[in-house]
Amino acid sequence: MEQVTVLGSTGSIGVNTLDVIGRHPQRYGVYALTANTNIEKLQQQCLQFQPQYAVVVSEHHARELAQQLAAAGCSTEVIAGAQGLEQVASATAVDSVMAAIVGAAGLPASLAAAQAGKKVLLANKEALVMAGPLFMQAVQQGGASLLPIDSEHNAIFQCLPAPRQQRVGGSGEHSAGEGVRRILLTGSGGPFRELPADALATVTPQQACAHPNWDMGQKISVDSATMMNKGLELIEACWMFDCGPDDIQIVVHPQSVIHSMVEYVDGSILAQLGNPDMRTPIAYGLAWPERIDAGVASLDIIATARLDFEAPDEQRFPSLALARQAFLAGGTAPAILSAANEVAVEAFLQSALPFNRIADIVAETLGQSDVQASVSSLDEIYCADQHARTLAAELIRR
Ligand code: NDP
Repeated sequence: MEQVTVLGSTGSIGVNTLDVIGRHPQRYGVYALTANTNIEKLQQQCLQFQPQYAVVVSEHHARELAQQLAAAGCSTEVIAGAQGLEQVASATAVDSVMAAIVGAAGLPASLAAAQAGKKVLLANKEALVMAGPLFMQAVQQGGASLLPIDSEHNAIFQCLPAPRQQRVGGSGEHSAGEGVRRILLTGSGGPFRELPADALATVTPQQACAHPNWDMGQKISVDSATMMNKGLELIEACWMFDCGPDDIQIVVHPQSVIHSMVEYVDGSILAQLGNPDMRTPIAYGLAWPERIDAGVASLDIIATARLDFEAPDEQRFPSLALARQAFLAGGTAPAILSAANEVAVEAFLQSALPFNRIADIVAETLGQSDVQASVSSLDEIYCADQHARTLAAELIRR
């Protein structure tokens, strides 16, 4: 039985992962589950899946959970503290790690899983954005397999030829005749796709989190609304698929039925289609190269009727261009972009920043930061991350 650690099990991706795992009790066992503050949900998950470990970041919450589990007769051992995340991501008994903690907080454990040679199911895109070269190096040196969970990257992975799929995970050689010409990375355009620019100043967090097609955590929902999500995904795709921004066309596709495409040199375009349900990429990642039931309904292609495509509006949604520039600048720039964005999104969610200022804060933070042209250690990344957070918070207060 394959032992799985689910980092961020109480979040949207975590819950969907456990839903898929729960459908295949003969195939998957749960080694560890982790949360930040949502003890109630973590307790329910522990009672249902009986993991060996549960990790909670704060001591206080960990004590509370341990008492509740003991009272319920559950033998799950509770570990307190962020180091516990790395411990359960790299433990010898673990085969696969779902990296589904949101934001920079997920980087150390995602990296630990890669270094330990696990099958890493990567949802935590910020980890790859912040530390792309170090992360890919860890995958290669640790002998890990990297499976993209982001629906777009998962779709691209599905449309790539097998040798190229092997290379995503760090193994496998370039083989002649793969014939990939470019990637078409699709996105819905978010809830404000058709909203005039001046109306973006007054949208509320509730409106921003009401994504038309996907049910996701708050941070990624706001990122989708600003289109920073597509920018982060562009960077993620460059690292994962070993290409540059010029090899990737961003396509707005409001129905979210096609999850991305790969074009070949003979003019063929392969697309992956399906209902917008994260259990599809999760099941694909868990079982790859096999396929398992994900509990996802068949796509009613007749009812879908039409598929629309348009170019992204980079005037109204400048985050996409910011992300592209940060990737091209390299070094610590993507980490600064991602950190400033996290701070700005949180401020917007707390109603302390208007929606249309999120991209401004990211641009100003990047502009006023001392970008290091190349990075050789994680400490440099964390240092840039901390500086960017402090600066972004100061810019928001002004
Ligand atoms: P959620 O906000 O729903 O869940 C985040 C998870 O991370 C929760 O388990 C949360 O715990 C935990 N967490 C938050 N902060 C910390 C911290 N400081 N230390 C440890 N754990 C923490 O996010 P999503 O599930 O939506 O997204 C997770 C990742 O997957 C993100 O990187 C996102 O970009 C990516 N992703 C998500 C998709 C989706 O459909 N949701 C699609 C594609 C990618 P708690 O519940 O206790 O707060």
